[in-house]
Amino acid sequence: YRAKEERGTFAFFETGMDEDLRVRLGLEADLRLAMQRNELALHYQPLYNFAADRITAVEALLRWNSPARGSVPPAEFIPLAEQTGLIAPIGQWVLRTACAEAVTWPTTVRVAVNLSPAQFRHQQLVAIVRDTLAETGLPADRLELEITETVLRQDTEAVMATLHGLHELGVHVSLDDFGTGYSSLNYLRRFPFDKIKIDRSFVGGLMLVPAEAACDDTVMVAAKSAAMIVRAITGLGENLGIATTAEGVETAQQFAQIRHEGCTEVQGYFISPPRPAAEIEALLRRLDATLPMLAGGEDASA
Ligand code: C2E
Ligand code: MG
Ligand code: MG
Ligand code: MG
Repeated sequence: YRAKEERGTFAFFETGMDEDLRVRLGLEADLRLAMQRNELALHYQPLYNFAADRITAVEALLRWNSPARGSVPPAEFIPLAEQTGLIAPIGQWVLRTACAEAVTWPTTVRVAVNLSPAQFRHQQLVAIVRDTLAETGLPADRLELEITETVLRQDTEAVMATLHGLHELGVHVSLDDFGTGYSSLNYLRRFPFDKIKIDRSFVGGLMLVPAEAACDDTVMVAAKSAAMIVRAITGLGENLGIATTAEGVETAQQFAQIRHEGCTEVQGYFISPPRPAAEIEALLRRLDATLPMLAGGEDASA
């Protein structure tokens, strides 16, 4: 294809224009309107902590319910939002909404928010986080920010400055999808991450092995490797004083094995799928009888 520019009118495309591009432009146009039209929502997925035997955090996961497109998965629109700069307003909306919703939950529960690489590179990120906490009233200690290894591949000085800025605010910083990227071991040495989230590809590989599988079976080798990797990351976390979360735990077997390996937390469909805010709040209230709301302050509305 070739894009032509005609007297300032952008994007007239010759027939035969790349179909992918056409699709992307349509998606981008719709995404621009999605925020104004209230089509974005956060769902929340619990993280269960073994030692505490309760839900200690929930992860905010963005959902786009488009009247025209149905439910669009974040894997489709987050990368696009990154490329077009839409991630800045969307990311700020996510952060603000997650903090505002979490402030009404039991104080023992943190909220985790994903940051894309472009958000992380934003010059004002630390200030935005600080202001959002102040405006919503959420204590810094109740916010976890999740970044992927992709973030760490970029300009080291700037990345370190931002990480330390966030750390000084008192928010928790988690390394998401651990094991799928690059250079993270080096960063574990240089920055005190609070949590490592073991990518679900390792967890998913765990229980594929039938007991009678031959030793040279490639499936068996893959599953054994997955188990060894989970064990190694857990040990690494233990020794560095970093919590470990196993992502994508779907079965009782995986849950048992993850517990056995000594992970701090699990997240996955076995515990709960991501749920709308109202549902997650009801769930958390049911599980935590020591809510400040229940202890007092309800008289006026009772
Ligand atoms: P992530 O941060 O690693 O989030 C976990 C993903 O795994 C979520 O997918 C979740 O629904 C899914 N998941 C949870 N438990 C299970 C399980 O047991 N089995 C399987 N197969 N999947 C499970 P989701 O919601 O589609 O999000 C995909 C990715 O999109 C996220 O991966 C995150 O990188 C990104 N994302 C989601 N929300 C946001 C956001 O608000 N901002 C940014 N920047 N990225 C986001
Ligand atoms: Mg995440
Ligand atoms: Mg993850
Ligand atoms: Mg993941």
